[in-house]
Amino acid sequence: MSENQAYGEKTWSKIEFSDLLTARKRDRVIGLTFPESDKALGLEPSILHVLPPGDNVEYSLKNRDFNDGDVRQYLCSVYISGYAEFRAWAGRHDRRKIVVGGYHPTVFPEQFEQYAAKIVRGPCDDLAATLEQPGQIVNGIVTHRNLPRRDLYDLGYNQQIIPDKRPEETVASINTSVGCNIRPPCDFCCTPVMCPKLLARPIEFVERELAQIAAYQPRYCFIRDENFTMQRDWAERIRLIHRYLPETRLYLFASANTLREEGVRTLRENGVYMICLGLEDPTVEYRKNRHLDESVALLKRYGIYSYLSFIVDPTKVIGREAANHFYARLQERFAQLLPEMVCGNFLMPFPGTALWDKYYQYVDEDDYRFYDSKTPFLIRNRVVRDKMRFFMFWNQWKYYTSDLYRERVRRFDTGDTLHRRFVELNAQFSQLYERIWNIRA
Ligand code: SF4
Repeated sequence: MSENQAYGEKTWSKIEFSDLLTARKRDRVIGLTFPESDKALGLEPSILHVLPPGDNVEYSLKNRDFNDGDVRQYLCSVYISGYAEFRAWAGRHDRRKIVVGGYHPTVFPEQFEQYAAKIVRGPCDDLAATLEQPGQIVNGIVTHRNLPRRDLYDLGYNQQIIPDKRPEETVASINTSVGCNIRPPCDFCCTPVMCPKLLARPIEFVERELAQIAAYQPRYCFIRDENFTMQRDWAERIRLIHRYLPETRLYLFASANTLREEGVRTLRENGVYMICLGLEDPTVEYRKNRHLDESVALLKRYGIYSYLSFIVDPTKVIGREAANHFYARLQERFAQLLPEMVCGNFLMPFPGTALWDKYYQYVDEDDYRFYDSKTPFLIRNRVVRDKMRFFMFWNQWKYYTSDLYRERVRRFDTGDTLHRRFVELNAQFSQLYERIWNIRA
């Protein structure tokens, strides 16, 4: 025995501690999401649609480090706010085994060239066919053959902040289509960047997925299509969903211009309890919102809740006068429309949208991590930022706790996830306000 071999025998390199407890997994295919999954607020991660069949495939909720020797492939879905986290993680792993996809690689594939062997752009549900294509940057291929790998994920992690839902009630989600057809696209929206056409999933495929979801008996199901009622055969689809999930309360996105009385009745008869509509910036006129007031009135008449999301452009609420003007208009719209749920988001100029051209000079790579819609990152001054965050929260709290809401909309303090979340936020923001109320920015 040579001296070197003798030395090698004494090292720890051959000891694999996990082997003492379990059979060591080899040839692993691991799905990851950047930023890391939020167990307090989330839905089935979209990477489940991409993960291929096989016992060696897994989804990791934690973006921890793995031993490259055991792994055949890392399949990483990267959203803009997870870019820095992904780069740090990728720097510690074998680039030849990394495949990336999702919004950020679709828009900026060149930013991934040094971190991944393959960069997939746009929607993908057939990984094998997608990766067979030559070149480092490829378009995702959709064949509607593979069901999402829900078996790799615990649906109990799903949580949604919505009216009436108790924390322990199960929520599932489904996409019956991806993308959006509207022309020109709304200037803030990143959906057409990811998929500029409305790709409706074949009805037989939707049916197979519904059979999979029905086994979980969810109390709620979110239909995640960007604009469900834009599909020509949406009525057939909602009947099918209700047939498979008769006890489930459904909610979905729609645009006001697609809702007519006959359609609203069909939605109501088929288990829809809430529709999410974009009020967007209340000081701007949107083509899709020309019929917003009539649509919301129709929903009320048929007993369907309306969930209105609104956008705050931070550059429009600088200073007391501008902020008062904006929020007075917002409260006026709430009083006219009486939505059961409201949800504020700060404007985020997405690369690839019309807004990006207007704002890109204010956005730095360091800002990507703030693409959570709750941070007005276009503003540099931290006190102003905090005040803006407070006032966006406060205007929602004010509405939910108003006499108007209690008398004409519904009870707020029901202990549902919406109420609980806002009580938590109130505690956080009250502290913030305590600290900043008299600080001049
Ligand atoms: S906001 Fe809705 S209607 Fe507008 S482009 Fe996005 S998905 Fe389409």
